[in-house]
Amino acid sequence: MSGTDWQEMTVYVNGEIMKGSEAKISVFDHGLLYGDGVFEGIRLYDGCIFKCQEHVDRIFQSAHALRLNLSMTPDEMTAAMVETVKASGLRDGYIRLIATRGIGDLGLDPRKCNGKSVIIIVGAISLYPTEFYENGLSLCTVGVRRNTPAALSPAIKSLNYLNNVMAKMQVTDAGCLEGIMLNHEGYVAECTGDNILLVKNGAIRTPADHCGLLPGITRNAVRDLATKRGIPYEETVLILPDVYAADECFLTGTAAEVVPVVAVDGRTIGTGEPGPITKALLGDFREITTRDGVPVY
Ligand code: PMP
Repeated sequence: MSGTDWQEMTVYVNGEIMKGSEAKISVFDHGLLYGDGVFEGIRLYDGCIFKCQEHVDRIFQSAHALRLNLSMTPDEMTAAMVETVKASGLRDGYIRLIATRGIGDLGLDPRKCNGKSVIIIVGAISLYPTEFYENGLSLCTVGVRRNTPAALSPAIKSLNYLNNVMAKMQVTDAGCLEGIMLNHEGYVAECTGDNILLVKNGAIRTPADHCGLLPGITRNAVRDLATKRGIPYEETVLILPDVYAADECFLTGTAAEVVPVVAVDGRTIGTGEPGPITKALLGDFREITTRDGVPVY
């Protein structure tokens, strides 16, 4: 998302819709004080909310995992999103769904919170430049390990994204746009904001959920597209040498969609150009973006 035009974005805060420049929440909100909340990033393609149900389901699952009772039902949340998108007038863009434990006191005790903050932000999205879809990305591996699921499961899309933020700083220091995070045991987990998939001998291999990662909605969409094409898809345990030896590598994510990777840690992946399976799946994915969505208008 572009960091400059937030003032012009359309924001829903607890039932009211306003401009980004007017949107405010309490300094006593536990989302701010403790990262105590959940979120989703969702795409709007040609007036349709892509994979709307999947994102709403995931925010409710994340909230459930944090024992956070959301103040609305899934249908009400979808309706609020539709209303906010309508107010924005946008046909293409990005939707950020946020729910926090709400206003409490300065102590940790969640029982003191009113559990009532729902925020929806609708705005334009800044994408990876087209050249990366044509020529591929270069990744590095970062030293920051992905949170161990025993402490805070990466499968929960919580507002506590410091693990990813720390990793992202290393990615940026290394001059890359995205980087690989290993789990606490040294196995490949995912990237700072995207899932990682490999192609080896015509089959897709990606870290299994138990490796400690966010099971991406885009990755699931790609799994279904691969299955339709008869391409085997396996969720397994991977080490860095598996990545280096892959025929193809690509990332998936709501913002990234399907982006080819052509180098990792200075090593060329495959031919050094986006591979045929990656390109086919990117094409297939772009075809479904306007089909698998909830129409707003
Ligand atoms: N991993 C992490 C850590 C993420 O934050 C995201 C979302 N940006 C993803 C993977 C990809 O998930 P999705 O395809 O559902 O956007």
